[in-house]
Amino acid sequence: MQTVPSENLAIDRKKRAKEPFLELDLRPAEERVCDFHEVVIGFTPEQAKIEAARCIHCPDPAPCMLGCPTHNDIPSAMWLIEQGRFAEAARLYHQTSALPEVCGRVCPHEQLCEGSCVLNKTGEPVITGQLEVFALQQERKLDPFTPEVAPPSGKKVAIVGAGPAGLACADELLIRGHDVTLYDALPAPGGLLVYGIPNFKLSKDIFFKRWEDMEKLGAKFVGNTYVGRDTTIDKILAEGFDAMFVGVGSLIDAPMNIEGEDLPGVYEATDFLIRGNVIGENLPKNKEPLPDLGSDVVVIGGGDTASDCLRTSIRRGIENVTCLYRRTEAEMPGSAKDRKLAKQEGAKYSFLTQPVKFIAGEDGKLAAVECIEMELGEPDSSGRRRPVAVEGSNFSIPATTAVKALGYWPDEIIGKTTPDYEVDKWGLTIVKDSETGQTSRENIFAGGDGVTGPDLVVTAMVAGKKSAIAIDKYLESKK
Ligand SMILES: Cc1cc2nc3c(=O)[nH]c(=O)nc-3n(C[C@H](O)[C@H](O)[C@H](O)COP(=O)(O)OP(=O)(O)OC[C@H]3O[C@@H](n4cnc5c(N)ncnc54)[C@H](O)[C@@H]3O)c2cc1C
Repeated sequence: MQTVPSENLAIDRKKRAKEPFLELDLRPAEERVCDFHEVVIGFTPEQAKIEAARCIHCPDPAPCMLGCPTHNDIPSAMWLIEQGRFAEAARLYHQTSALPEVCGRVCPHEQLCEGSCVLNKTGEPVITGQLEVFALQQERKLDPFTPEVAPPSGKKVAIVGAGPAGLACADELLIRGHDVTLYDALPAPGGLLVYGIPNFKLSKDIFFKRWEDMEKLGAKFVGNTYVGRDTTIDKILAEGFDAMFVGVGSLIDAPMNIEGEDLPGVYEATDFLIRGNVIGENLPKNKEPLPDLGSDVVVIGGGDTASDCLRTSIRRGIENVTCLYRRTEAEMPGSAKDRKLAKQEGAKYSFLTQPVKFIAGEDGKLAAVECIEMELGEPDSSGRRRPVAVEGSNFSIPATTAVKALGYWPDEIIGKTTPDYEVDKWGLTIVKDSETGQTSRENIFAGGDGVTGPDLVVTAMVAGKKSAIAIDKYLESKK
């Protein structure tokens, strides 16, 4: 429900709908390729007020609220920003979202809130994502938020996986007075917010400030613990936990199964992004920072991970950075916005191109990629036209580094090491009800990419919060 009822606002909607659109300022491409800092230049308070005042305040529930998976009260936040009441606007985002400063930066807004804005019919939507970022920045600067916390419940909950799903679950449980410990295979919390999404999309500082807030509420973190190998779900539960949430994501890189995949110079996207974007004590002990990538980088794939790898390579000073994709640009699954930024920064694209072999040079390292030309055939089960190889069209392109960004599979280890814990044939956790995330084990709940397969930060966060509410009810029922 909207906190500021739209019917009470004396505004001229027709006039507002005609107000000029405020172009979001980006750092120039030639400047941003020299560092890993964020690309967007945030709004000034004056700009934010002007942009928020374009909102025409649709009747409750507004399409932007329905388009947002966490149902942020966007129209009311726009009204408060317009009035200069920035911290109050930020408070509204906290009511529905555990990671508003993250979602404001990384959500595909054009498919969610901004994509649902009625102003799209006549012009440009209100840039609600960046206004969310602005409100949260102002709040942190002027009036930092501390949530009200329930008295201690005496109940302990373990969370396996400290990505957006686990973090959102932890946040809600802490507010409800429970004792929460997060376990993760990696040295730091954050999941793909730290070990996937590059700094130029989401600065690590932004996430770690949010994590500090959770620590102040009592969140405990146990890193470098790969559950299924270093310990098990049941051993953790036996340490005195009353319930558990499993938010382990879907993090195994899909293989290509072609010759030369193990050559030095051929990387999986996850390894490449971690080693290219994470430094210091947060870098896993078994990983080194990326070495010199040579002169020619190819990235194979058409999703957002491919864009992130292209842009990471460009920021490492490589001039010749090319994306190889087996269909055409029209079928690419990744965000058009990220692709536009990658192109501005100098990424090249070779469409209808399928690598078939990685070729070593005299030194035994990757030197070239043999490819075959493709053409589009009949649509496949995804509705996209199937790529078909053109016989005899093989050619090779020089490559000192190749990054495979072909998608992600779930890890089967939890299913294999947890008795009576149901997973599907891929290893994704089966939940009885998506509203609660309860699994085949009564006191274990699950959510995020480890249940749905690869999706979004915001959907994982929503699943984690819903499970926290269900866990709270479950703990209450056991009193
Ligand atoms: C490169 C990349 C870029 C992306 N960019 C965006 C974007 O811009 N916007 C967007 O909305 N989404 C993006 N996504 C998707 C988004 O990051 C995920 O959908 C989201 O992080 C899923 O959250 P999660 O909590 O389910 O899992 P994850 O974030 O994957 O976190 C799972 C955590 O569980 C831990 N874990 C796994 N197995 C175990 C185990 N056995 N024991 C202990 N710990 C374990 C992992 O170490 C990890 O920390 C991107 C994904 C990738 C790969």
